Amino acid sequence: MTRPLTRIQLSVILTDACNMRCAYCTTAKRPVWIPAAYIDRILALLDTAPPVPLDVNFHGGEPTLAWPMVVRLAEGLAVLRSTRRLSLNMCTNGTHLDRSRAAFLAAHGFDVRVSIDGRRRTHTRFRQPRPQEGIQAEALFSATLAGLDALRAAGVTVAANMVVTPDTVHDLLSNAVFLVRRGLVHLVVSPVVGMPWKDRDLLALDAQLSGLVPLWRRWMSRRAPHQVEDLRRSILSEIDRATYCIGERMNQPDARVLVIGPDGRIFGDEPDVRSEKALVVGHLDDCRDLTRLPAPPRTAFQLMFDREFYPPHVLRDVRRTHRLLRRHMRHLLRELFGETAPGPPASPAPAP
Ligand code: SF4
Repeated sequence: MTRPLTRIQLSVILTDACNMRCAYCTTAKRPVWIPAAYIDRILALLDTAPPVPLDVNFHGGEPTLAWPMVVRLAEGLAVLRSTRRLSLNMCTNGTHLDRSRAAFLAAHGFDVRVSIDGRRRTHTRFRQPRPQEGIQAEALFSATLAGLDALRAAGVTVAANMVVTPDTVHDLLSNAVFLVRRGLVHLVVSPVVGMPWKDRDLLALDAQLSGLVPLWRRWMSRRAPHQVEDLRRSILSEIDRATYCIGERMNQPDARVLVIGPDGRIFGDEPDVRSEKALVVGHLDDCRDLTRLPAPPRTAFQLMFDREFYPPHVLRDVRRTHRLLRRHMRHLLRELFGETAPGPPASPAPAP
């Protein structure tokens, strides 16, 4: 029996290019840019799609490098707002955001996730500029902070995407304090994928995450109820995200999840096939209905980031780190809000 479609989740990769070369990045940084004609094609397809809630992620590479396409897509989508619930999201390194761009994102209701790992020393450890940019990592860090501040000043809902590695895990808590003092409430702690997590690294991650309870408790004592509610929602969102990364939750079963590449290929979300080609479920050039593309039988996490698949030992690390993360987020929810999230018991430890 076919389930009714209740949501469309679309990630549009505006470019594969990026001005940075983060050591842990798995995104293919090809100099490929989505043409305006494909943006218009996406808008036309969405216009004729069922008026179910629509989540659109503006992705890259670094999506702000394709700023005219950000504007074209966002303005086109704004027209659809009258017929359905629309949520716009962007993941960016923030280095190409200024006041006017931040104001545009605010006016269009974007939720923005900025890739910032914490203080300068941690951030620049792995986040490096593309050599051709002729800029130092420290200067790019300052640009990220400036972008972050512009977003906050414009009133955009911002989350920090903090990549944590075995090398930087000991500074997780102090980096969290740095970001919270900068006004961030939603910290997306992302244990790095692809660097080996040894048992001692997991113990360090465990110890650092334990410090979040007193950190947020102090923070809550000085905040307004709506800010505290933002924190509660962000913790729930992190529990959900960790569950997804562990592989215990598929994308919402009634949602149509699609990723559109800058070359017009439309990807499904399928873990069992091993090549990018096998993930292609269509092409913008000949697609007539986004909701009628062949649906892969299962979903995979992080396809939108890397469009490649992980070997078993990497998947094992992803699961171990995210189980630990989820346990701490559930513990945080219980300690701060007295709530029990669905799933396994919430206890802060032991590390796996
Ligand atoms: S992680 Fe993001 S900012 Fe860093 S190189 Fe990859 S796409 Fe660019």
